[in-house]
Amino acid sequence: MPNDTRTKILATLGPSSNTEEKVSALIDAGVDGVRLNFSHGTHEEHQKTYEIVRRVAKEKGVRITVVADMQGPKLRIGTFKDGKVLLKRGQKFTLDMKKDLGDETRVTLPHKEIFEALKEGDKLLVNDGNIVLNVLKCNKESALTEVEVGGFISGHKGVNLPNSSLNISPLTPKDLDDLHFALGLGVDCICLSFVQRASDIKEARKIIGKKAWIISKLEKPQVLDDLDNIIKLSDMVMVARGDLGVECPIVTVPVLQKRIVSRCRVFGKPVIVATQMLESMMASPMPTRAEVSDIANAVYDGCDVVMLSGETAAGSYPVETVKTMHGVIHQVESDAKYLESVHHFEQGTCGSTEAQAITHAAGEAVKTMDKVACIATFSVSGATTLAMAQERPKLPIIAINPTEEIAHRLNLVWGVKTYVDQQGFESFDNIESVSRSAVTSVPMAKKGEYIVVTAGYPFGRVGSTNVLHIVKV
Ligand code: PEP
Repeated sequence: MPNDTRTKILATLGPSSNTEEKVSALIDAGVDGVRLNFSHGTHEEHQKTYEIVRRVAKEKGVRITVVADMQGPKLRIGTFKDGKVLLKRGQKFTLDMKKDLGDETRVTLPHKEIFEALKEGDKLLVNDGNIVLNVLKCNKESALTEVEVGGFISGHKGVNLPNSSLNISPLTPKDLDDLHFALGLGVDCICLSFVQRASDIKEARKIIGKKAWIISKLEKPQVLDDLDNIIKLSDMVMVARGDLGVECPIVTVPVLQKRIVSRCRVFGKPVIVATQMLESMMASPMPTRAEVSDIANAVYDGCDVVMLSGETAAGSYPVETVKTMHGVIHQVESDAKYLESVHHFEQGTCGSTEAQAITHAAGEAVKTMDKVACIATFSVSGATTLAMAQERPKLPIIAINPTEEIAHRLNLVWGVKTYVDQQGFESFDNIESVSRSAVTSVPMAKKGEYIVVTAGYPFGRVGSTNVLHIVKV
């Protein structure tokens, strides 16, 4: 049964999956949200895919979250006279701002911000870290390097600078164009790539406002210096293990993943674990044992979302991949020790607000009373629902919300099922009748069972969770 798990699945769409038939099959297999990756494809292609997703979801009567992922300041070298060159360990190689085609002695790196930030002794990683260059000398327009790890290098390969903080916005001119386009389409969340500091999120928020959730992709080591502030300013966080594994020593990725997931849980921010979760299924219908264990570990840590990238966008087995991921989540969540593991991983919650007192009390009510079928949260902004989800309760959470926009965002949160109703927010007196309608329509509860309800009253004031109510169905 799809959509029956607490941990959600986000699948990237691309040539292998952007038809009506495939989107429908992916949803049936268990997808909760889709990612449109603006590093690839044209606006027309993304618009077509977006419309397919919205149409298919409507036909099926489900909510599917749509996430637009901005390419961000991906830095790239220029091209070579002969297409590619072989760099040998120990040789000298220059990167500069000249426009000429490259050869075995030099290549263009058309980013002055890099030369402004580089220092002697820094490392430059090219092509996902396959080529490593050590900076010997640099000025505002060029850097002389020594090749530490060599190999073939061809044009337009990506460059990562793990030791340097660059004076660049996470939104390039291309991103701004893509961002306005994606917001115009009506996407639910925007991913910011290569976030470096908390101010990057503030800058993006000025443009995005409340039109979408901001998902900060954590893929640079610098974010660790200001991790808590970055998490607090984001609506959601992604452990983007692809670039993280290039920018940081690859062996540190599991430790960083655990640290980021744990801090997100402390602040009650939904967190996505992404990249290479089922990479081998790009070409094979059967995953490796290590991959299924990787998914299971992220689920046991209580992350909100696990993500598929190339597997569903360009792989040969997109539907089988989602079925596999769903199967692993289902197995882990059926384990009697699952919630114990999720709660054990939590490193305490931050703050002592009214919202936390109420949601904690709701969790206790669920444990104390017999016959409680579910928890319902009345939330305009989504904050009451997020506070409840942070508790990782054993029962499902029905997020009752007056708008489709917020319901679509909450759809990606751990343990949350969404229900849209405006009447519930017209008067406090409607809480009981609307809770009953919600849980019988989702469906979640039978006659005679109880619903534990939390709400923020007066409705619409963010962070005002102050009501705990018990309703008999
Ligand atoms: C990543 O680097 O892990 C990631 C998710 O980003 P992208 O797919 O854009 O490379």
